Amino acid sequence: MRILVIGGAGYIGSHVQKQLLEEGFGVTVFDDLSSGDRVNLLPGADFILGSILDKKALAHAMSGGIDGVVHLAAKKAVGESMEWPEIYAENNICGALNILNAMTACGVRHIVFSSSAAVYGMPRYIPLDEAHPIEPINYYGYTKAAIEENMRWYARLGKIDYAALRYFNAVGYAADKSITGKERNPQNLLPIIMEAATGKREKLSIFGNDYDTPDGTCVRDYVHVSDLARAHTLALKKLATDGESFTVNLGTGKGTSVKEIVDAAEKVIGRKLNYDYAPRRAGDPAILTAKADKARQLLGWEPQYTDIEEIIRTVWNLEQ
Ligand code: UDP
Repeated sequence: MRILVIGGAGYIGSHVQKQLLEEGFGVTVFDDLSSGDRVNLLPGADFILGSILDKKALAHAMSGGIDGVVHLAAKKAVGESMEWPEIYAENNICGALNILNAMTACGVRHIVFSSSAAVYGMPRYIPLDEAHPIEPINYYGYTKAAIEENMRWYARLGKIDYAALRYFNAVGYAADKSITGKERNPQNLLPIIMEAATGKREKLSIFGNDYDTPDGTCVRDYVHVSDLARAHTLALKKLATDGESFTVNLGTGKGTSVKEIVDAAEKVIGRKLNYDYAPRRAGDPAILTAKADKARQLLGWEPQYTDIEEIIRTVWNLEQ
């Protein structure tokens, strides 16, 4: 199978690219390099420089020999999505619809879509299973829910089949250091910790220490990006085998607090980090953890990284 990896030069996309190549898939990366990086293009993958807003470029990319699509080309900064929804509407909604339409026009059936735990909003219960109500509380989460809904319709109308993968917190880098491109202007906790550790930023701020959690800081479900990547190839194989669309959480089920992450990072790095406590960040639920049984049962997916220090080490090794 040849897979068009849209957004394949980005952080998660590059790991998906690597996993696909290792499993013998043909890979064509389609990326506008707005946040992805050429250094993330791996030997063996073809590359098309193009935007998902360019319908002709998409149709051209899908016109011959593409068996499936992995779509990871989305904007993902929650705060930014609340300030500039129009950018998120255009990129995450119009862009994804362009992809579905190009697939329909070109007869490409399978799509694996990067969705997010952000579709759930404030948890009504923990851990979150896939049946939890879809009540996003930020525009970013809404864009993911909107595309899930459209994929459901396109599938119902016989145009495509899809796997919606609801990522929890993606962290880490490939342990063999084959992916070296770092995100520009990162907004997530671990890249920010790395910037604080390497002097690129003065300090780290922990957003809130008065949550109803054991140490007062937010609890998240951190899943290694190589484990996430493996779920994409499993999902593609499943779609190719039975063509049944599905939606699954991708998390470990284990919660780790921000303070625990900082403590673990200090251990791995071997010295204290400069950090302080800042007010809560708007829209942050106290706890987000996944019930990930469905991915296990449906795909046989089992996260291999369970130790947070080991995960952080894959990032720190690369920094050095
Ligand atoms: N966080 C923090 N300081 C930072 C960045 C993030 O305390 O500089 C916290 C954030 O409030 C959340 C957790 O770290 O509780 C994970 O945040 P991230 O943005 O990485 O992922 P999210 O959970 O928002 O998808």
